[in-house]
This record gives sequence, structure tokens and C-alpha cells, in this order.
Amino acid sequence: MPPGEFSERPTAADGLPETVSCSDCEAAFESPGEYSFLILNQLTAPVIGCDDHLSEFASICGYTTVATASTVSYRPAGGIGCPSCRLSVHNPRQPIIPVKDGAVGIVACPEHQTKIIDRFQQGLETKHELTAGIGMSDSAELL
Ligand SMILES: [Zn+2]
Ligand SMILES: [Zn+2]
Repeated sequence: MPPGEFSERPTAADGLPETVSCSDCEAAFESPGEYSFLILNQLTAPVIGCDDHLSEFASICGYTTVATASTVSYRPAGGIGCPSCRLSVHNPRQPIIPVKDGAVGIVACPEHQTKIIDRFQQGLETKHELTAGIGMSDSAELL
């Protein structure tokens, strides 16, 4: 057996961060024919992840809409097009966003990926501030 054989073999879970312990998310990344659609105002992007973490992701973005898991049973030749601008994603190497113990992958053109990620990070900051505020008042009440 040639020594290079093992490293040549790609695994679907290659890009998953080590923090991902959600087996449902892993399963979603391992069967990349299934997408849900995240719908933010003008943006629509196929996303990969389990239902729980997709909902979490959407709610952090400030939206509650993860469209009904419109799954496609095959990966179209030539890659998935970005639904927002019809720009075809020829080399779908989606960024993977850690969400708690899971992960969400966004399949869109770089421009729209960036918009969604920005939105997510703003949401995270807002949520963090809110949580910090609540935490403080909680401990005050406990005393
Ligand atoms: Zn998950
Ligand atoms: Zn786009």
C-alpha cells in the first residue's frame, strides 16, 4: 500500500473545528447533499448543520427564519449557486462557523458569506452584552 494513500483520502468532516461535539452537525457535514436555507432580509443562503444549531445561528443573527429544511438529494454539478446573486460557487469551500458545541457552514459567494458572518458576529456581541447585564443583576438579586 502506498504510504500517501491515507492522507489522500478526503473526509467530509475535515474542516470541522475541534469544538464540534454535536453528532447531528457532524452527520450534516458528512452528507453534504442536504441543505437548509437561511433567509435574512435580502439574503438567502444554503446552510449546513443540524436543526438545533441552525436555529441557534439564525436567532443569534437576529432572525428566526431558517426555512423549512429544503433538502436537495444531490449536489449539482458545478457547485451550488449563491441564491442571492446567482454567482455560482464553483469550489464550495464553505466557511464553518462554530455555534456552541456545533457548527454551521454557509454555502454562498464570498461577498454574501461575509455579510452573513458579519451579521452573526454583531449578533453575538449584542447577545454577550445582554447576557453580561442579566448575569450582573441576577447575582445582585441573589445577594
Ligand atoms: Zn448540531
Ligand atoms: Zn452572492
